[in-house]
Amino acid sequence: MSAASRKRVLILGSTGSIGTSALKVARDLPDRMEIVGMAAATSADLLAQQAAEFPCRHLCLTDPAAAHALKGMVPSSTTVFSGQDGLSDLVRATEADLVLVAIVGTAGLKPALTAIACGCDLAVASKEILVMAGRLVMAAARSRGVRVLPVDSEHNAIFQCLDGRSSTEVRRLILTASGGPFRTWSPEQIAAASLEQALKHPTWNMGRKITIDSATLFNKGLEMIEARWLFDVEMARVDVVVHPQSIVHSMVEFSDSSVLAQLSRSDMCFPIQYAVTYPDRVPNSLAPLDFPSLAKLDFEAPRRDVFPALDLAVRAGTEGGTLPAVFNAANEIAVAAFLDRRIAFPKIWQSVARVMDSHQPSPDDSLDAIIAADSAARLAAARLLSLS
Ligand code: NDP
Repeated sequence: MSAASRKRVLILGSTGSIGTSALKVARDLPDRMEIVGMAAATSADLLAQQAAEFPCRHLCLTDPAAAHALKGMVPSSTTVFSGQDGLSDLVRATEADLVLVAIVGTAGLKPALTAIACGCDLAVASKEILVMAGRLVMAAARSRGVRVLPVDSEHNAIFQCLDGRSSTEVRRLILTASGGPFRTWSPEQIAAASLEQALKHPTWNMGRKITIDSATLFNKGLEMIEARWLFDVEMARVDVVVHPQSIVHSMVEFSDSSVLAQLSRSDMCFPIQYAVTYPDRVPNSLAPLDFPSLAKLDFEAPRRDVFPALDLAVRAGTEGGTLPAVFNAANEIAVAAFLDRRIAFPKIWQSVARVMDSHQPSPDDSLDAIIAADSAARLAAARLLSLS
């Protein structure tokens, strides 16, 4: 094993669902993955435990009090950064080969741009940053010559199916969706859905925000816009099909009508590993698919009238400019309010639609314009939902 194939990896969001899966991959492939830094928001105890297992010289907790507590739990030679800017300081200090952005929401945008500026490859789980600023992130990566490797299982599947082919050969990118816990529910049942019911994802075990996004199908809407930027196709060529078993992770239909699909068990270690070892495929301890035990693979059209998130996403992604940032920010506020039991489930898409309607669209998608639109949408959503 050459030293070049062992990647020095910084994990932003190491204490979360993706972060802990990434550490599983590191445990499984020590010859391929060295952890050189980790960051989270408040989880000092867990980050200290992770740092005891994967010693690294640089850590960050964005919460200053938690960062202070962490300093008492790690060797004095460890630098602990704090604050939101601490994430970018950490990126600069570690000089990693690959930065895994797995922070929930848009807080990963600035450190991601810092990583690109430092010449580090990115592995992106945080779809929100590509929804908000996809054109900017991809343009910065192209001009700096760094890779943006998708970790979201659907986009990782498409990346594998494309295998370097140009988007001009693609007729459709077909994202699969499990359909979430309410796939077969009536609109009346969905309107009365409780937090506990929305948090029960049928096939994936994930963080709370993305689990709610999967129940509303906002997750799939965010992924449509994410795919548009990652693979340089317009929204009209991004499609969604519901596949309840979550075995086919997504597909590419080429111009000759051939379709390639990527399959595996639903475990985020698969896409994380591929992002780390790319372009190599290496053996691991993950269980392979057992085809005879898969009774069947079903596919069906999404119920767009019952799950308006998909059409809202198409509208945001097609219009572009600041609207995707507004779509994303309003959703983040509404999901946080639903998780706090302050609003009913349908208020999530109803409020996002209203914030989008009231937004004065601008084609300007510079970082300043996007950040301003993001802040205004958060404020508008909070007012609308009487949170402020
Ligand atoms: P979790 O909620 O499980 O974890 C979030 C992580 O981010 C935690 O480490 C948390 O730290 C940290 N964090 C949260 N806010 C901040 C902040 N402001 N600054 C620094 N760190 C922060 O989320 P997931 O792992 O589920 O999701 C992470 C991202 O990956 C999301 O964008 C999601 O959409 C995407 N994704 C997730 C998948 C999954 O299977 N979970 C699948 C595909 C994509 P702390 O513990 O201290 O709060």
